[in-house]
Amino acid sequence: MIVMKFGGTSVESTAAIERLAGIVRGRLAEQPIVVVSAMGKTTNRLLEAANLAVAGKRVEALDKVESLRAYHHAEADGFGAATIIDEHFGELTELVRGLAILGELTPRSIDAISSFGERISSHVVALALKAKHVDSRTVIVTDERHTMAAPNYAETNERLKATEWGAITVMGGFIGSTLSGVTSTLGRGGSDFTASIVGAGVDAKEIQIWTDVDGMLTCDPTVLPGGRRVKSLSFAEAAELAYFGAKVLHPSTVVPAIEKNIPVLILNSRRPQVDGTRITAEGPVTTSVAKSIACKKNIALVNIQSTRMLMAHGFLRRIFEIFDRHETPVDMIATSEVSVSLTIDNFGKLETIAAELRDFAEVEIEQDKAVLCLVGDNIRWQPGVAHRVFRALDPVNVRMISQGASLRNLGLVVAQADLREAVERLHQEFFTDVDPEVFE
Ligand code: ADP
Ligand code: ASP
Ligand code: MG
Repeated sequence: MIVMKFGGTSVESTAAIERLAGIVRGRLAEQPIVVVSAMGKTTNRLLEAANLAVAGKRVEALDKVESLRAYHHAEADGFGAATIIDEHFGELTELVRGLAILGELTPRSIDAISSFGERISSHVVALALKAKHVDSRTVIVTDERHTMAAPNYAETNERLKATEWGAITVMGGFIGSTLSGVTSTLGRGGSDFTASIVGAGVDAKEIQIWTDVDGMLTCDPTVLPGGRRVKSLSFAEAAELAYFGAKVLHPSTVVPAIEKNIPVLILNSRRPQVDGTRITAEGPVTTSVAKSIACKKNIALVNIQSTRMLMAHGFLRRIFEIFDRHETPVDMIATSEVSVSLTIDNFGKLETIAAELRDFAEVEIEQDKAVLCLVGDNIRWQPGVAHRVFRALDPVNVRMISQGASLRNLGLVVAQADLREAVERLHQEFFTDVDPEVFE
C-alpha cells in the first residue's frame, strides 16, 4: 500500500481534483490510501466565520458560510457531491448560529468548525474517484488538546489495522477524535501528519505528499523565488527544515515515518512527471554542506538579563519554567553569563510571561524579527561554515546566532526587513555550485 496526501491547492477546483484522480488511478496497483486537505483556503474561511460569529457579526459569519457553500458546489457538484455538501453545510450553519448565540469560541468548538473542510473534501474526492470513504475521526484517535492534539498511537494503530481498505480509500487529513468521540485536529497543516500516521499504521511502502511545488526547495519560494529542487534529504534534515519554517512539510510528519523507516516523498500535483524530493533515514551521500535554508517570519526576540550581576543559581530554570507554564515554545536560545536571548513565534501569552520574568530580570522584547536556518547533515563535519555564513551576510546585521546540538543547523535572527537579502546572500554562497546528484 501507499499513502498519497493531497494539500489544499491540489484539491482546490474541479480541474485540480481531476488531476488528482489521474495521478491516483496511475497507482492503483499499490492500493492507495488518499489523504486530502480541505479544498483551497477553506480552513481559513471556516475560522474567519467562527471568529465573526463570536464577535457578534452573525450576518457576516453566515454570509461567509454561504459563499463557502457556493464555492464547494461550483467546484464539486460535477462529481455528484451536491447532496453531501448541503448536508454538511446544514450542520455547519447550525454550529455557526450556536457560536453567535454563545459568543464564545473554545478550542473544542474551533476544532468542530475547522473539521468541516476535510470532512467535506474527503467525501468529494471519494466520489470523484468512486473510492471507499473512511471518516478519519473513526480511526485517528488523539488526546484532548484541541487545535493541536497529539495522536494516541496505540489506539489509532489498532483501528488502522482493523480497517477494511478499498482498492482506493479516501480520508480527510488534519482531523481525528478523542477517545470519547469528540472531534479534534492535529494543528494547522496537519494533513501531512495524518498521512504519515496512516502510512506507519498500515506499514505503507511509501508516503507521498502531493503539493504545489516541485519538492523541498533550497529556499522558501515565498521569500526568494528560484531555489533549486533538493532531490533527497534525511529524515533529520527534513524535520529540522519543517520545524524552522519550511511549510511544505508539517514538522511532525517524519516522526511516524522514522519509526517504520518509510520513505516520504514530496511531489508536485501540477507537474507529476518531476521526481520531487525523497526523504529517507540515510539521506544522500554528498559533500554538499547544506541542503536548504528555512525561514520563519514574525518572530519575537526576548532578551532577558539577570538583575543580579552574576548568573544567579536557578536563573535558567526560572525562565524556562515560565515559558513552559504558559505553553509557549522557545525556538532558539543563546546565553551568556547574565543574559539569555530566545526567540518565540507564539505571542499569545507574551505580556504575562514578560511580567513574570520582570520579577527577577530585565526584559526587552524585539518584534519584527525573522529566523533563518541553514540546514544540512554535513554542517557538523565541515570546518568554517560559520565563517562562510558571516562573510556572505556581511552587511546584514545578525541579532543572534545559535547552533543546535544536532549540529545540523545554523540558526540566525535578523530583522524581518533584512530577511530576503539574508536568504539571497546565503543562497548564493551555499547553492551556486552544487552537487548535481542532490540538487537540480
Ligand atoms: P499544501 O496545501 O499542499 O499542504 P502548503 O502550502 O502547506 O501546501 O506547503 C507548500 C508551500 O510551502 C509551498 O507553496 C511553498 O510556498 C512553501 N514552502 C516554504 N518553504 C519551502 C521550501 N523550502 N521548499 C518548498 N516549499 C516551501
Ligand atoms: N486544512 C488544514 C489547514 O489548512 C490542514 C492541512 O491543510 O494540512 O491547516
Ligand atoms: Mg501543508
